[in-house]
Amino acid sequence: MSNQKNTRRDFLRKSATLTAGVTAAGLTTVTGLSGCTASEPQSPVEFIPGKPVPWINWAGNEFCYPSQRLAPTNDEEVAQALAQAPGVVRAVGSSHSFSPVVPTDDTLVTTDLLSGLISHDADTHQAEVWAGTRLHDLGLLLDGVGQALPNMPDMDYPSIGGSIANSVHATGSSFGSMSTYVLGMTLATPSGELLECSAQSNADVFQAARASIGSLGIASRIKLQNSPSFQLTEVNGVEKAEDVLDDLDQRFANNRHFEMYFLPYCDWSLTVTTNEAKPGDENVGEDDPHAVNILRQVFGAVSWIPGIGDDIYQRLIEMELKKNATVNTIRTGPSHKVFPHDRIVRFREMEYTVPVEAGPACIREIMQTIRRKKLPVCFPLEYRHVKADDIWLSMFEGRDGAAISVHQFGDIDYKAVFAEIEPIFWKYEGRPHWGKIHTLDAQRLAALYPRHWQDFHEVRRALDPTGKMLNDHLKHIFL
Ligand SMILES: Cc1cc2nc3c(=O)[nH]c(=O)nc-3n(C[C@H](O)[C@H](O)[C@H](O)COP(=O)(O)OP(=O)(O)OC[C@H]3O[C@@H](n4cnc5c(N)ncnc54)[C@H](O)[C@@H]3O)c2cc1C
Repeated sequence: MSNQKNTRRDFLRKSATLTAGVTAAGLTTVTGLSGCTASEPQSPVEFIPGKPVPWINWAGNEFCYPSQRLAPTNDEEVAQALAQAPGVVRAVGSSHSFSPVVPTDDTLVTTDLLSGLISHDADTHQAEVWAGTRLHDLGLLLDGVGQALPNMPDMDYPSIGGSIANSVHATGSSFGSMSTYVLGMTLATPSGELLECSAQSNADVFQAARASIGSLGIASRIKLQNSPSFQLTEVNGVEKAEDVLDDLDQRFANNRHFEMYFLPYCDWSLTVTTNEAKPGDENVGEDDPHAVNILRQVFGAVSWIPGIGDDIYQRLIEMELKKNATVNTIRTGPSHKVFPHDRIVRFREMEYTVPVEAGPACIREIMQTIRRKKLPVCFPLEYRHVKADDIWLSMFEGRDGAAISVHQFGDIDYKAVFAEIEPIFWKYEGRPHWGKIHTLDAQRLAALYPRHWQDFHEVRRALDPTGKMLNDHLKHIFL
């Protein structure tokens, strides 16, 4: 394959230049996104001398002032932290959740120093790792012993413990969430005991702990079923969204991984198709982590034009995408380098998983609603498939899922847009991602997990009768 310079980035840059002349102030038909390209949120908190140092999540929408921060380095120190800390205790991995699963003004236990590979088995491709290990470190460490995670999310900043707590997933119809790779874990319970759990030992705790939102204690070690290491090739394309939706089952069935990004106010979509690499595969073009800012600039430049702003936006986007429809950016290499992408532009995210059969109708309704209500959003929506599992509070429990994500730039209030879209997910029996923004309470969530909601809470209450692990958000979603 030849080195193609004409990438989506070039298209977006050209569109931004084209529209640079029309960034005048004026009435807005699609309000909220002016022509600027900022995406950094204002810091929600300040460091105040004499007050505890604040904790803030990656997205900058959640914060707290923990009076005590602990950083255990081994199993016993994790257990001791839980046994001795007064008040509410929360674990924190890499702070990449959008929902308030971490905040506490009492004790925050960071897993930063619980990092690395503990042991591995070359025959079974199993490995035991410290729970605080970041996915980008884990990829390298496993590669060093000939292993790889079977699938990975689209970025590698989170810790493995935080990923499992929230049932983090990637895409691919034959692949479950990251919680499905877990064979066992060492859990420090709220009372300060160390408990081994697996399918064979403390099986009910194991079923609950593989998607617990950090409510059963703190995992110190995790045993994973990995694959032999492998190489991947990712091909990025631009295609008519409706054509791809019509062919969706084939796309997922015929490729190891497939996902789509829907562009608001546009009939075209970006597709990402990933398969095991073939000899001769080469990199073509490059990923541009800032491209979404340029999309925002184009949107802001034309959306003010009364009545026709969104129409011009669609025409500009289409014009260039059609020209470039045959040009693909290709990334090839070791799986742990191809799965993740740089996520530099700050954003906030809501994601729901609907039954896989309902996915196309749900995304169509969302895209139509954005147009009809002229919602101020141009950030692409992500569409992925995840295989069903049997983990009690997994978003994929008992059903194959279509995971649909809606984003807003980090410096823009997301609430109005998310409030318009969230009820659409409810119509399709969507289950919210535990680590992303949603408004459901315990009663609504219990109805979405009819089979095992009570089983989960029996285990939780047995391990944590006083609610030591429950911050305000966990009380809201669990009690
Ligand atoms: C840019 C970006 C991209 C993302 N992409 C994806 C994606 O592709 N797929 C996806 O599914 N999600 C995605 N997410 C969401 C994110 O991966 C999850 O919220 C994940 O759980 C964050 O992991 P963390 O290590 O940052 O955990 P944190 O946010 O620090 O904590 C998450 C939860 O885990 C608990 N926890 C942490 N460590 C432990 C432990 N050792 N034992 C017990 N509980 C623990 C915490 O108490 C908390 O409840 C993305 C987020 C961002 C910001």
